[in-house]
Amino acid sequence: MQVSVLASGSKGNSIFIEMDGTRILIDAGISVRRIKQELAACGQDIAELDGIFITHEHSDHISGLANLSKRYKIPVFSRPDTFRMMSCYRELPFEAIHAISDSIRLGKVSVKAFSIPHDAADPVGYSVCGSRKCTVATDLGFVTESVGQAIEGSHVLVLEANHDVGMVRNGPYPWPLKQRILGNRGHLANDTAGWALTRMKQRPEYVFLAHLSDTNNRPELAMEAVRNILEQQGSGNIRLVMTAPKEAVSIEL
Ligand SMILES: [Zn+2]
Ligand SMILES: [Zn+2]
Repeated sequence: MQVSVLASGSKGNSIFIEMDGTRILIDAGISVRRIKQELAACGQDIAELDGIFITHEHSDHISGLANLSKRYKIPVFSRPDTFRMMSCYRELPFEAIHAISDSIRLGKVSVKAFSIPHDAADPVGYSVCGSRKCTVATDLGFVTESVGQAIEGSHVLVLEANHDVGMVRNGPYPWPLKQRILGNRGHLANDTAGWALTRMKQRPEYVFLAHLSDTNNRPELAMEAVRNILEQQGSGNIRLVMTAPKEAVSIEL
């Protein structure tokens, strides 16, 4: 299995997963040129993608989608309400649109969508399951019981560590935006991500810390907050991997 977070953060998100010969992209929130370039840097060919799975319709998750699916004729999977709310919906080739509810099979893997609490039409995270399990859960206000169940057993987890609560409270954003970020349908704080990991019965081998805010977080701060919670709770052996807004970060298992 290869997991490459090609870009992560409020300016664009895209994650590549190869498992048992199936190559998928989760979100396409950067340009086709950048997706192609970052995939090539990870030893992958954009033309060989088997499917694109979209978590929700916010532009940082779909800005490259229409061009990507048109140019390379790649099927796109998402919940029906997410398709309807996409700004690029009418540009997507009709035959590329595949509305899903929960689980579909693609080659030798199954991809399961699970609902997450976020201010979008019908936002989801995804678990890719085959010989291993890799789960992506970003853009969520908190870790619901069903998200907790969905991430359980993942060997690799891409988890949001969006902000430091103190930095949001004392930061420059207007109050309504602060409330949105800190609310139940906003984004996951560093500490909340750390605590979610300690509640897992089976510890993942690798956890990517993803979707960091440029205004309300810093990579070292997110790393330290999660690391401290894991160490206090005796789960210090999880390998944490920091993602970046503009370059691919990869692991192979
Ligand atoms: Zn979002
Ligand atoms: Zn986002």
